[in-house]
Amino acid sequence: MLRVVILGAAAGGGVPQWNCGCPNCRAARNGRPEIQSTQASIAITADGEHWFLINASPDLRQQLIATPQLHPKAGKLRHTPISGVILTNGEIDAVAGLLSMREGSPFTIYAHERVLSILKDNSIFNVLSEKNVARQAIEFDKAFEPLLPDGSPSGIEIVPFEVPGKGAWYLEGSSHPAGDGGAGDTLGLRIVDKASGNYLYFVAACAAVTDDVKARLAGAPLVFFDGTVWRDDELIAAGLGSKTGQGMGHIAMSGDAGAIATLAGLDIGRKIFLHINNSNPALLHDSEEREIAERAGWQIAADGTEITL
Ligand SMILES: [Zn+2]
Repeated sequence: MLRVVILGAAAGGGVPQWNCGCPNCRAARNGRPEIQSTQASIAITADGEHWFLINASPDLRQQLIATPQLHPKAGKLRHTPISGVILTNGEIDAVAGLLSMREGSPFTIYAHERVLSILKDNSIFNVLSEKNVARQAIEFDKAFEPLLPDGSPSGIEIVPFEVPGKGAWYLEGSSHPAGDGGAGDTLGLRIVDKASGNYLYFVAACAAVTDDVKARLAGAPLVFFDGTVWRDDELIAAGLGSKTGQGMGHIAMSGDAGAIATLAGLDIGRKIFLHINNSNPALLHDSEEREIAERAGWQIAADGTEITL
């Protein structure tokens, strides 16, 4: 049995974002607390006891406080149920939470070489001593089983795969520590419960639904998918920024080339949008955009939701 907790549903900045006065952020502060959400991450377990984080968001500390499954075991002075963190990219909203895990408990970071090179290149991450916090490189289409701190198997198999995307924002205009060009900055994950064979896909960043992405996701029991923006020019149209969704490496929910249209008819059991930017009108429970998404069979992720597969 695979258990999943949505620790955070939002894209970078969260909802509300500290410096944002857009209608959604204002609503989240005033009278609509149900749309408040922390930055995207999920936790998974196969044995109900040992958990793995998929990405470590800057809101991790708050997320852990809110999630009893991830509290230290009663009666132990120092303990965490978290055995490892699997990183799907090197963006701030995926890696900054690692810095909140610096108090000496052992765990393993699993990430592509390109993302590991970013951690290595930033000396602040040395606070996670490699003696306690091992780094393990993961590769495209090579299944791996994350291990528990004592080296025993977790019962979870993960297959990373390439999705269209881009390198971390903060590297724009400077050279990538792993060299410019080459894939590995954005991963999708297939996550399988070895005992039952049940599985889910985690694709929190994806610039386009290619035939390869479609073929993988077809027939999946559960898919978490990039729900950053409703439309590609949303930030520009709202006067919030100069970047398009595509410019940030994210497909839009709507439109002919958007996620709703391109992932339709693939017989996916449950489809959940994750990594939702505070500009996205589908956040509001009574918006027309949310109704369109829900009518197409999509859910909008909410913090704290637990799902069993
Ligand atoms: Zn906002």
